[in-house]
Amino acid sequence: MIEIDLQGKRGLVMGVANSRSLGWAIAERLHAAGAELAFSYQGERLKEDLEKLTRDWPGTRLFQCDVTNEDELKGTFAGLRESWGSLDFVVHSIAFAPRAAMDGRYIETTRDDWRTALEISAYSLVAVAREAEPLLNEGGGLITLTYYAAEKVVPKYNVMGIAKSALEASVRYLAYELGKKGVRVNAVSAGPVRTVAARSIPGFMKMFNKVGGIAPLGRNVTHEEVGNLGLFLLSPLASGITGETVYVDSGFHIMGMELGEE
Ligand code: NAD
Repeated sequence: MIEIDLQGKRGLVMGVANSRSLGWAIAERLHAAGAELAFSYQGERLKEDLEKLTRDWPGTRLFQCDVTNEDELKGTFAGLRESWGSLDFVVHSIAFAPRAAMDGRYIETTRDDWRTALEISAYSLVAVAREAEPLLNEGGGLITLTYYAAEKVVPKYNVMGIAKSALEASVRYLAYELGKKGVRVNAVSAGPVRTVAARSIPGFMKMFNKVGGIAPLGRNVTHEEVGNLGLFLLSPLASGITGETVYVDSGFHIMGMELGEE
């Protein structure tokens, strides 16, 4: 049996709000594989939860980093440089769109809401990659979290779908540039999973309940399955894979039509 061993590897996980976060599902797998982890959190409010979650992982470093704040971004990577000197991977598990932009019609998206959604959910990966680049070791990797609405219309996902398209395109450009240093960049495209961010999407539960009836596996994916894909993509087993959007969605995205009960 091939086992993934990440002992001696160090990485930053960005975007864990609580134990239901997909970032946490990935962090748990990376930790179990022996990696040493640091975390960044959006604001003071989330620090305590993260401290509780990582209580049993002594020495875990926590950094405050709202990705719209250039000083906090730079401070996080300066802190990592000081503590570790180098880095093997970054998990980017961050997205946000104002509720109003997802409640109404896409055509009504305001300039401000567009900017906010694209800045936090897509541009932040570019900013993170730029700060991480000088620290990343050869063989290192970056992953981000995306969703099928980047490719196809998912009603109500609206501007977040456009942000995910930009994110996936960014993954390809970043993979091209960082590939020269032996660093890989990939996107995990997860099917619907119940998290704080997901529940803020209007009609999320309707979407969640529909997937099981359409996906070849007849069910939704679990947190653990998303965590496993994250671990795989950051491990040497995925050494030939970069610039990809890899689906972990029970096969939902391969379906072109659904005929109901057969
Ligand atoms: P979550 O709410 O647990 O995580 C979202 C994280 O984004 C939070 O930790 C939040 O603090 C962070 N964040 C938002 N704005 C930020 C900012 N300005 N600076 C720093 N951090 C900020 O929800 P989740 O579902 O785990 O979301 C993680 C990623 O997974 C997102 O990119 C989401 O789009 C993606 N995703 C989720 C699903 C799903 O169904 N849950 C499916 C596919 C993709």
